[in-house]
Amino acid sequence: MKRKNHFPKLALGLSIMFAMSSLTQAEVVTSIKPLGFIAAAIAEGVTPVTVVLPDGASEHDYALRPSDIRRIKNADLLVWVGPEMESFITRSASQLPANKNLELTALPVIQSHLVGEDDHDHPSLQANAINTANSSDRELSDSHSHQGTYNLHIWMSPEMALMSATAIHDRLVQSMPAQKIKLDSNLSQFKDSLGDADKQISKQLSKVKDNRYYVFHDAYTYFEQHYGLSPLGYFTVNPEIQPGAQKLHEIRTQLTEHKAQCVFAEPQFRPAVIDAVSRGTGVRKGTLDPLGSNISLSQDSYVKFLSQLSSQYVSCLKPMN
Ligand SMILES: [Zn+2]
Repeated sequence: MKRKNHFPKLALGLSIMFAMSSLTQAEVVTSIKPLGFIAAAIAEGVTPVTVVLPDGASEHDYALRPSDIRRIKNADLLVWVGPEMESFITRSASQLPANKNLELTALPVIQSHLVGEDDHDHPSLQANAINTANSSDRELSDSHSHQGTYNLHIWMSPEMALMSATAIHDRLVQSMPAQKIKLDSNLSQFKDSLGDADKQISKQLSKVKDNRYYVFHDAYTYFEQHYGLSPLGYFTVNPEIQPGAQKLHEIRTQLTEHKAQCVFAEPQFRPAVIDAVSRGTGVRKGTLDPLGSNISLSQDSYVKFLSQLSSQYVSCLKPMN
């Protein structure tokens, strides 16, 4: 009979323990993997980091599962690009307190580094949407201008990666002041290893930077500008939208005239259209992974991601025999 008396207490004790562990198990949640790479560098030894978008999915098209929604709700910190990039996260993010919701394109320092898209066929990349989403900052552009769209693949830029890392650091210091020393040291380590990798990648890419190519979707602008690469263009701004006949004809012409040495597909998208356009042209086919889907989160995963991109460029752009 003693047993019966103890059981409710045990159950109560367990449920309290459970509640406490779910409190302490809060984590940094990022929308996409490259932001997870950056967050993992800063949160190393402090708090776990998880990523919402599964490997193989596109950053432009995903629907949250109920478990994702719960995870975001319990997050210590949610890190994402913004509603124009990951519209799937907008609703869950808006339900978080402001200090737990780190929307990177709402930061003035990031905004001042955004470059425009001149294509018009990406419905969700409107600059006026950026302006509406953030309350604090200067006007990015005239919302009626057709040039008022921005490339939001900000994780491709080493500079903006460092700005993002700094913002994540600052938020975590606020929420976990006891961990400040560790967080400071993680940030400075990230900065150092990013600087080293940057030098190495510059050197690696300098040998191929004048060779022309096409990428499948317009995700690489910041990386290409940073390292002085020479893209001829892209098939599409949004991988969910198939390129038009005129665009394909244009690319095909450039390829038959040997203006480009390489066309890059992506692990997330291997469209038949790339094979069709490049058939018989002798152009090389390569792969660029804009999300680093094969890399697991660790302190040095962001640097691995940049280095992998660099190698992917080089393997397709190196001199042909
Ligand atoms: Zn993209």
